[in-house]
Amino acid sequence: MVNISEAAYISGNILSGKVAMVTGASRGIGAAAARLFAEQGASVMLVARTESELRKVTEDITTAGGNADYVAADLSSANGIEQAVQATIERFGRLDAAFNNAGIAVHMSSLLDETEEAFDQVQAVNYKGIWLAMKAQIKAMLETAGSGAIVNTSSVGSLKGNAGLGSYAASKRGVNSLTQTAAIEYGPAGIRINAIAPGTTLTEMIQQWVAVDPDIIEKISAMTPLRRAAEPMEIAQAAAWLLSDNASFITGVILPVDGGLTA
Ligand code: NAP
Repeated sequence: MVNISEAAYISGNILSGKVAMVTGASRGIGAAAARLFAEQGASVMLVARTESELRKVTEDITTAGGNADYVAADLSSANGIEQAVQATIERFGRLDAAFNNAGIAVHMSSLLDETEEAFDQVQAVNYKGIWLAMKAQIKAMLETAGSGAIVNTSSVGSLKGNAGLGSYAASKRGVNSLTQTAAIEYGPAGIRINAIAPGTTLTEMIQQWVAVDPDIIEKISAMTPLRRAAEPMEIAQAAAWLLSDNASFITGVILPVDGGLTA
């Protein structure tokens, strides 16, 4: 539990002493977050499916003096997430913070054209995966650290209708609902649970949509008050702050990190 009188504001390494797991850490927003959390003093467990990419990011962090390890797991299965949480406890002894960021996109298509297989796949990773992750992480936090903080990655696409990305947007709106419900249920136990809703961010994921609509980044940037897409590190910064004790009175929030797109 955060000591409010001593730690109203941390000006140094904002995640100092915390054990954090980051999912989707092999590239994109998750890799940026793993690097940032380690820089900010956390011991970090990186999780995704691709071992070679996880190893590379982990080696970069440890070479730079950070404390990190990785575990390869498929987070759409209960076994995968439970093994990842267990590996974190075995390696670092406890769990204080989790950034549930792994996610997949869908090919842009209208509701009539989307296949049932694609719908099921995106719900399994983006929606059920978050539910499974929180179940395992909250249990582990209560048993080890006694309190904790979780940030789930949603999307600006969750906040209103999203033509061409219906099942993706629905999976992310499900994340918002799970986040707020979990915040209410586990606030009394000292666990804060929030979500971030990124706007367009320059990662591999957005390249899938660029392949269908080459001007998509420019089109969304033109509608964005800051007139550009985000770098992955700008999204990671919001997650780091929400996981830190500097955000000690914030729970149940879906925070847009979108250059003002939803303003
Ligand atoms: P990305 O570069 O494609 O990264 C996705 C990450 O998720 C990878 O590390 C991937 O690793 C992991 N992943 C996917 N399926 C997985 C599974 N079944 N089990 C374990 N790991 C899995 O995309 P990103 O842009 O960084 O996306 C990160 C999050 O931000 C996602 O939730 C996405 O929906 C959200 N988001 C992105 C944008 C954007 O514009 N980029 C905007 C709003 C929200 P492996 O393939 O190695 O498993």
